[in-house]
Amino acid sequence: MPDVDVLVVGAGPAGAVAARHAKQAARQLDVVLLERDRAVGSPVRCAEGVGHAGLREFADPDGADWVSRRITDVIFQAPDDTEVVLADCGLGWILDRTRFDAHLAAEAAASGAQVLVGAEATGMSRNGDGRWHVRVKERGRDELYRTRIVIGADGVETMVGRWAGLDTRVPARDMESCAQYVLQGIDFNPDAIYLQFSNAIAPGGYAWIFPKAVGVANVGLGLVALKTNGRNAREYLDAWIARRFPNGARTGYTVGGVIVHTTIKKTYADGVMVAGDAAHMINPLSGGGIVNAMKAGRLAGRTAAAAICAGDTSERRLAAYHDAWMQLLGEDHLKYYRIKQALENVDDASFNKLARTVNKIPAAKRTLGRVFTHALIRHPQLIPVAARFFV
Ligand SMILES: Cc1cc2nc3c(=O)[nH]c(=O)nc-3n(C[C@H](O)[C@H](O)[C@H](O)COP(=O)(O)OP(=O)(O)OC[C@H]3O[C@@H](n4cnc5c(N)ncnc54)[C@H](O)[C@@H]3O)c2cc1C
Repeated sequence: MPDVDVLVVGAGPAGAVAARHAKQAARQLDVVLLERDRAVGSPVRCAEGVGHAGLREFADPDGADWVSRRITDVIFQAPDDTEVVLADCGLGWILDRTRFDAHLAAEAAASGAQVLVGAEATGMSRNGDGRWHVRVKERGRDELYRTRIVIGADGVETMVGRWAGLDTRVPARDMESCAQYVLQGIDFNPDAIYLQFSNAIAPGGYAWIFPKAVGVANVGLGLVALKTNGRNAREYLDAWIARRFPNGARTGYTVGGVIVHTTIKKTYADGVMVAGDAAHMINPLSGGGIVNAMKAGRLAGRTAAAAICAGDTSERRLAAYHDAWMQLLGEDHLKYYRIKQALENVDDASFNKLARTVNKIPAAKRTLGRVFTHALIRHPQLIPVAARFFV
């Protein structure tokens, strides 16, 4: 039975960063990173957009082969296609997740963690010796790993959280179903991401165009199934694309779920922490979770190393991980979640009106802050939306 100190389940951004930081914090520890798929980073279920500042905490995008595109503009589109180009929105990047996730896993390996692909955790139980015994299916064989700490970084469909007795259920209204094509031969500004909000196009969510190259983009949408008229995400996407890019060549397709909720109430148990999507650490307003997953992974990895070195892997000790996360981003997500709820009540006609009046602000001064203030002055019906941010 392999005996390890930290077993990380899932080699997405959360898991790879957790493994790397656990090892870097205490070189003497045995850290193993498991990935059930045959290749880290594949298949891609993501639009691949990240902000510069968050990404730079973990990797340098300049000249990196895991970057597809540098983004300088953000364009909001109203339901009637009125465009609002934001000024000063900051730099962003569209990643190549296949390469990016592999890069993060390689960094974990370089720091001394062992990375295993085609290795799926299938169950775990707490043993009398105070360790977790984790069953792993690897190349058709069943192995049992004995470990001091398990880090569950196994994404939206997490099982580690459930096996550890944590409540990882998601209310149906907070689960977005997404569908996305890679479209080629389409016309758009390749330096901008486009976000279109409309209950007719993507009820409860939004539609996006994230450029991968000139003429090539991830084009997708996320919606809340409860709010639809019975059609699924792909049918909504097909209808949108038929109108916007009827001649685009569909060269890739993916579906996936995004949990637009808040962090689960408890992200730890004796000898266990869950991180990233597995703990619902996605920004509930934007649906972005890559940088959040890496930040949570870093906290989990460091907390694991410190706990093992101190000889105390109890849930009392690991609660520090949850507290640190809540201070870092978890509390902010509670506020974003309230805004998301309030925005759900804004209808398409109001969005159209808002876009037209916002465009009266001179382009160079059209920052997010000014748009926000303008919206409240010119459209007082939005004041309750803003108010939810503060209550
Ligand atoms: C359509 C779509 C578009 C998105 N667009 C964006 C975007 O533009 N920007 C952004 O920031 N976020 C985006 N997201 C969200 C983002 O993809 C996730 O938040 C991010 O990948 C979370 O990282 P993670 O490490 O927590 O989980 P994941 O990246 O899901 O990684 C989990 C890993 O665990 C593995 N695994 C699962 N179970 C087991 C097991 N039992 N044993 C071993 N391995 C296991 C999986 O194979 C997977 O590799 C999008 C999501 C979707 C679905």
